Amino acid sequence: MQLRYAFRLYPDTAQQAALARAFGCARVVFNDAVRAREHARQAGEAFPTAGQLSTCLITQAKRTAERGWLGEVSAVVLQQALRDAEAAYRNFFASLKGSQKGPRLGQPRFKSRKDARQSIRFTANARWSITGAGRLNLPKIGAVRVKWSRTLPATPSSVTVIKDAAGRYFASFVIDTDPAADQARMPETDRTIGIDLGLTHFAVLSDGTKIDSPRFLRRAEKKLKKAQKELTRKQKGSKNRAKARLKVARAHAKVADARREFHHQLSTQLISENQGIAVEDLSVAGLARTKLAKSVHDAGWAQFLSMLEYKAQRYGRTLVKIGRFEPTSQTCSTCGVKDGPKPLNIREWTCTACGTVHDRDHNAALNVKTAAGLAVSACRAPVRPGAIPAQREETGSHGFPTGHRAA
Ligand SMILES: [Zn+2]
Repeated sequence: MQLRYAFRLYPDTAQQAALARAFGCARVVFNDAVRAREHARQAGEAFPTAGQLSTCLITQAKRTAERGWLGEVSAVVLQQALRDAEAAYRNFFASLKGSQKGPRLGQPRFKSRKDARQSIRFTANARWSITGAGRLNLPKIGAVRVKWSRTLPATPSSVTVIKDAAGRYFASFVIDTDPAADQARMPETDRTIGIDLGLTHFAVLSDGTKIDSPRFLRRAEKKLKKAQKELTRKQKGSKNRAKARLKVARAHAKVADARREFHHQLSTQLISENQGIAVEDLSVAGLARTKLAKSVHDAGWAQFLSMLEYKAQRYGRTLVKIGRFEPTSQTCSTCGVKDGPKPLNIREWTCTACGTVHDRDHNAALNVKTAAGLAVSACRAPVRPGAIPAQREETGSHGFPTGHRAA
C-alpha cells in the first residue's frame, strides 16, 4: 500500500525563484498538452501519443525561442507535467463513461499562475536526494531546508513539491508500507465498535463515549471566522484587502491542518483498539442539498471516513459502512423494535415496546455496532486488497494538508 507523507519546506529566496520557474514551466507544458489535444479534437484527428507530445512539447520546444527557457528546469518535472495532463484526460473520459466513482469531472482546464496550488513532481529517476544534513536536494533548485515532523519509515519513491494558497511549501513523499511491520504494530483484537455521526458531537461511540472536536481545532476555527469578517470590511482592490485575504488563507490552512490532525489521531486510535468498526455512511455528496450539509462538511466526516478506510485496509481491520437509510436512530438497541421516525430535535426517547430510555446518538451507535459485529464474524480473515492509491490525491481541491503523519 502506498502512502503519502508531507513535510513543510523552507526554500531560501533563490530556491523560491527556482521553484517558481519550475512551477511555471510545468504549467506551460501541461497547458501545451491540453491545447494539442484540443486542436486534434477540433481537427477531428487522433490524439497525439505521449511520445509525440514529449518530443514536440519538450525536446523540440526547448530549441525554440519562445520555449527555450524550458531547459532551465529538470526534464523530469516537464515529463511529469505531461503525465498529469494525460491522467486528467483519462479521468475525464472515465468519468464520462461512468466507470469512475465520484462526481462528474469537467474537461481538463488550463492551469494558471493564479491557481491557489502549484506543484511539481520528481520521480525516482530525477536524481533528487535527502542530504546528510537532512535537506531535500532537488535538481536545478538546490538543497532545501525541511522540517522533519516525523521520520520516514522507508525510502520514498517520488516527491511532489507544493506551494499552497497560504504561500507555504511542502514536500509530499510517496512511501510503500511494510505489511509485517504494520501487523506487529496493530495485532488482531476481538473488539468491535460502532460510530455514529453525532449532531451535537463530532461522533458518538457505541461504548457511550461522546467525542467533540478538540480545543486547538475550535480555536483555529474562531480565528478563521475573525479573519473572514475582517476581509469583508476591507475595500475591494486595496492593499489591505490583499493582506487580509492572505490572512484568511493562512487561517483556513490552520483549520484544515488542525482538523486533519484530529481526524488522524482519532482514526488511528479507533483502528488500533478495534478489529471491526462500523460507521454510518452519510454519503456526503447526497447530503449537499440538505440543511445538515453544512454541519457535515464542517465536521469533515468524509475525510474522517476515508482515513478510517485506508487505515482499516492497512492494518487488516474490517470497516463496515451502514447505509444512511438504515433506521439506526429509530430502532431500539435493546429489543430491536422499530419505534418510528424521530425528528432531529428529539435527543432522548423511550422505547414503547421495552421501556428502555435512549440517548438518541448512543442508541444509534449501538445499532451501528451490532452491524459491525455481524460483519466481523462473517469475515474473520479480512481480505487484503492490492496497492491502493496514496491517501492524498495530487489534485486535491483546496489547501494542502500538512498532514505530517500518514498513520
Ligand atoms: Zn425496546
